[in-house]
Amino acid sequence: MSSSFFKTTFSYFLIIFILIFFITFIVLTDTSISYSESFSNLDGEFIWPLPGYSYISSYFGRRVSPTSGASTYHSGIDIPAPEGTKILAVCDGLVTFASWGAGGGYTIVVENNDIKVSYCHVSPIYIVSRNDTVTAGKVISTVGPKNVYGINNNPYKDSNGNPTNGATTGCHLHLTIKENNIAIDPLQFFNF
Ligand SMILES: [Zn+2]
Repeated sequence: MSSSFFKTTFSYFLIIFILIFFITFIVLTDTSISYSESFSNLDGEFIWPLPGYSYISSYFGRRVSPTSGASTYHSGIDIPAPEGTKILAVCDGLVTFASWGAGGGYTIVVENNDIKVSYCHVSPIYIVSRNDTVTAGKVISTVGPKNVYGINNNPYKDSNGNPTNGATTGCHLHLTIKENNIAIDPLQFFNF
């Protein structure tokens, strides 16, 4: 065996050792906390999004005569309230969507671990943006107008042919709560 053989072998081991060391170092020092871990847990009850407005015009589940363009399976609950009524975040979370959401009209989605909350038919004047964190009870939007203008090819229209804020016949908040991407009755999360 020549000494060059040992030198080459040693060099290979040294390189491998350095690589393993640095990979381990990078993994162990990655202290970035994912958003979900930094949120409070969801064991407490949720905050009602529209204080003072508790009438539900459409419950969760199958429905007989939905608004034209809306699904026969209602993924959430509809709470009517006047345009401009403040909408509170029902739980802490990360805003993952704040934009036009087709049938939901102007929509905000807040996610917290496996819980995903959608607020639909909100005002086009957004006070939160994607990647903002929100805390339960914080005003995240207001109830939007029935009619909205400026969306190209908006297929949702009222009986007069005017474009609407998604599939809606009047000002209300549509609230959907999904757990692991499966919609569940939002009323389960609130204590009345
Ligand atoms: Zn609805």
